[in-house]
Amino acid sequence: MTARIIDGNALSAHVRGEIADRAATLSAQGVQPCLAVILVGDNPASAVYVRNKVSGCEKAGIRSLRFDFPVDVDAAEVMAKIAALNADPAVHGILVQLPLPRQFNEAEVLEAISVDKDVDGFHAENVGRLSQGREAFLPCTPHGVMKMLEAANVPVQGAEAVIIGRSNIVGKPMAMLLTNAGATVTVTHSKTRDLAFHTRRADILVAAIGKPRFVTADMIKPGAVVIDVGINRLTEGPDAGKLCGDVDFEAAKDVASAITPVPGGVGPMTITMLLANTVESAERALRRKG
Ligand code: NDP
Repeated sequence: MTARIIDGNALSAHVRGEIADRAATLSAQGVQPCLAVILVGDNPASAVYVRNKVSGCEKAGIRSLRFDFPVDVDAAEVMAKIAALNADPAVHGILVQLPLPRQFNEAEVLEAISVDKDVDGFHAENVGRLSQGREAFLPCTPHGVMKMLEAANVPVQGAEAVIIGRSNIVGKPMAMLLTNAGATVTVTHSKTRDLAFHTRRADILVAAIGKPRFVTADMIKPGAVVIDVGINRLTEGPDAGKLCGDVDFEAAKDVASAITPVPGGVGPMTITMLLANTVESAERALRRKG
């Protein structure tokens, strides 16, 4: 069996087209969606993510504001910027690029963002709403995964879903979204005994570990749908310098029924869902105004 490839670039292009239409409708009504992005320090990976987010905004007709702070900035200065952006009615989304330098308490920074502008979906209130299945800004990566499953017509209700990873950004919200959608969910992590016992039961296997090619073919149930969230840069071997996921793609595609590639899978969908949340926030703001 050779797995169907779930193409994140193609789906992303399609969804971004819809987002651009919504942004144009809003702009015609005098509300151009606007995302403010805060970057602290000079982490090269963060700089790339921020650049991609800003350019994604531009292409979709979303205004973006970018605020760069030096690595040794006083945390109070960044908190004051967040407060000003919270109070600015022209700003619909606020994103603080993680990770932050040591002088910051990340949880405190995320809590400082207005719940109504928390387009990353990391504020504790949005997390709580998600866990209760109420309206919330959904965290972009797991939300993107749900969109991919939907677009690929993967039945989620009643499926055995196994997630490797329990981070606040990916693993835990992924578990909540799949639970809300009716899957039977198992969350595994570095302390899990006999990981392969769990992964081999999965109809839907989500890998969010951060270890290159960690998931091997023998860990996958034949016919499973494999979602690879990992983004790793290989440092050795013939592919040194290239990006790869947490799944051994070449071997896994002969066992799975469908699989996401890296690059070109979950990654592009993550930014797409950020743009979607920003437009949604602007739509909500317009409804409140009207
Ligand atoms: P974290 O490092 O926060 O979490 C990794 C998780 O993997 C932890 O829960 C950890 O367990 C678990 N883990 C580590 N080693 C093992 C192991 N040997 N067996 C089982 N579980 C293990 O990473 P993130 O969730 O932030 O990111 C995961 C990956 O996804 C990374 O490659 C990251 O780059 C990528 N990513 C991609 C995005 C995209 O847009 N596609 C967006 C965000 C992340 P424990 O909790 O016990 O330590």
